[in-house]
Amino acid sequence: MINNILTYEESYEILKEHFRQVKPSIIEIDILDSVNHLLAEDIISDIDMPPFDNSQMDGFAIKYNNEIREWNIIGEISAGNYQEIEISVHTAVLIMTGAKLPSRADTVIPIEDVIIESNKIKLKDNITLKKGNDVRFKSEDIKKGTIAVKSGTLIKTNNIPLLAACGKNKIKVYAPFRIGLFATGDELVDIDSIPMNDRIRSSNLYSLTTLITESKMIPVNFGIVKDDKAQIKDTIIKALESDIDILISTGGVSVGKYDYLKDVIEECGFELVFWKVRVKPGKPLLFCIHKKTGKSILFFGLPGNPVSAFVSFNLFIKPFISELYKYDSQKRFKAILEHDLTKKDDRKTFVRGIIDFHIDNFNSKLKTQNSKLKTHLFTVRKVSGGTQSSGDMASLSDANCLIIFDADKNKLNDGEFVECIMI
Ligand code: AMP
Ligand code: MG
Repeated sequence: MINNILTYEESYEILKEHFRQVKPSIIEIDILDSVNHLLAEDIISDIDMPPFDNSQMDGFAIKYNNEIREWNIIGEISAGNYQEIEISVHTAVLIMTGAKLPSRADTVIPIEDVIIESNKIKLKDNITLKKGNDVRFKSEDIKKGTIAVKSGTLIKTNNIPLLAACGKNKIKVYAPFRIGLFATGDELVDIDSIPMNDRIRSSNLYSLTTLITESKMIPVNFGIVKDDKAQIKDTIIKALESDIDILISTGGVSVGKYDYLKDVIEECGFELVFWKVRVKPGKPLLFCIHKKTGKSILFFGLPGNPVSAFVSFNLFIKPFISELYKYDSQKRFKAILEHDLTKKDDRKTFVRGIIDFHIDNFNSKLKTQNSKLKTHLFTVRKVSGGTQSSGDMASLSDANCLIIFDADKNKLNDGEFVECIMI
């Protein structure tokens, strides 16, 4: 366990290392369900592509001879209706797109390039023909037995034609992580209740579930748990028995009298890696690892405040999932700050902000500040009204990004470029 409070950058490196140890399992799925999954096998083509020399135009198949410009039409072949036709340098076969070439033919003249007179064709005067014109040769795209799509490819719809052409109806992919989650707190009620007295609705279970599904992972919800050691322990044990890869809790990781997570997680066989990171919001983050069952299970104890929980997932979990599964789900932009921003402490701070995307439409103040900017300009401002408190869900709801305010800075200036994480 690391005792000093880590910087964000230090925690990032540690997490990166630990995420490397979590190996997603491999599952076989139907090609129709495979989009957005990471391919876990090399797809080998079981055929040549194309499988035979064929025409890529409607036209005439000939045997090329650079001195001949006229041919007799002696037959026709359409796609799927091959018949062997013996051709010589003086004869041509009417051929349709995709049709297999007669065995002696090596060139196709598009129909637009000839003058047809009864059963004769003549190359138009302005046309020069090259040998091999408009022929798709056997195996020129992919040879039988070679790799068509590499393992580790994030499958997109543009990969599907090739996968289908390779005859793959079942495909091995990396299974999405199963991510268990539970919320701790005696004050919590579910969202279909009206919170009375000192109760509040447990919004975290909902925000985390959607963050997990947005990351294309599988949420496994263990519900609301009281601030009670035995109940928390039971929940963690149940989670460990549920084939999860990552476990997330919210609440109970600070220094309050009933913040039990840190103690209980160790009793359940987890090893503490670090507790607390110098960030705002989200400082009390607890990170542990369980190695007993032959696979590593990561545990994230997120703070209970709804904004802290949300931001923590975005900072400490989402980037690593995105990297592992090759999702481009967390976009970062540099934007021009529309006003000064100040802070007093030395924590790396993630300010709820609003990025505006101006395309060919930027105000003259910014134009003079940076004359290099011609088009695509992003500006960003802090969410107005509300607070930046870690409980203020309204300002989170108004935001579309987090402005990164580095630990060692106390001021960001009006007009400077700042880095923002889209949320
Ligand atoms: P804790 O991290 O347990 O000290 O909680 C910090 C703050 O977050 C408290 O005001 C809690 O009431 C609130 N909180 C804890 N869990 C949740 C939750 N699941 N949903 C919404 N707010 C929560
Ligand atoms: Mg609590």
